[in-house]
Amino acid sequence: MKEDSMSGSVANRKELCQEVVDTCLRMNTLGINQGTSGNVSVRWGDGFLITPSGVPYEETSAEQIVEMGMDGERKGDILPSSEWRFHLDVYRARPDAGAIVHTHSPFCTTLACLHREIPPFHYMVAVAGGRTIRCAEYATFGTQALADNILKALEGRKACLIANHGMICLHENLKKALALAVEVETLAAQYWRALTLEEPKRLSDAEMDLILEKFKTYGKQPGLVESGHH
Ligand code: 13P
Ligand code: ZN
Repeated sequence: MKEDSMSGSVANRKELCQEVVDTCLRMNTLGINQGTSGNVSVRWGDGFLITPSGVPYEETSAEQIVEMGMDGERKGDILPSSEWRFHLDVYRARPDAGAIVHTHSPFCTTLACLHREIPPFHYMVAVAGGRTIRCAEYATFGTQALADNILKALEGRKACLIANHGMICLHENLKKALALAVEVETLAAQYWRALTLEEPKRLSDAEMDLILEKFKTYGKQPGLVESGHH
């Protein structure tokens, strides 16, 4: 019965693998990633599907997407992304994560190299779920230490910068995760531009809390707002 369940049919798996590849190609077109930098995954069945390690996106096919279990075991012969540990840990810790996008997008990475978080200089910072977008402490790529640092910086957030490395974000699906990556990169670029003049003015905690509250229903048409709002 698993084939027909919510955990996904075989056709669904193929489509999802293609969606992972399309998301990677879209990252290149959008200018938020290039080469073999970054990686993408999506929750599937009892585990997740993730990009292979070290393959440029324009050369990646849906068949090369690697399936992994929640025990960290890979299925098949293709090596998964070197960052499978942080993908695994995010899926384990965060039920709200249906997909993960990791990029070395230029402005996020610039700030991350300065170990700067994104402060509440613009109300849209709340799009990542908090008053700031934190910067995870540095650790070598592909290590458990990096996964631990990222998980900590993601507490109560859907995105964070990664020191001397890039950024990561999670969302319920690939489309939303990619859109969030673009949004965070835009904020990083705006913050960087402001910084070239002076440290921008910040919104108060109270104002950010108000924005966070408003975001719970922002953009949701009446019929789509959860229980009690019909
Ligand atoms: P992979 O090609 O192994 O996914 O590595 C890219 C990367 O961004 C490592 O942090
Ligand atoms: Zn990386």
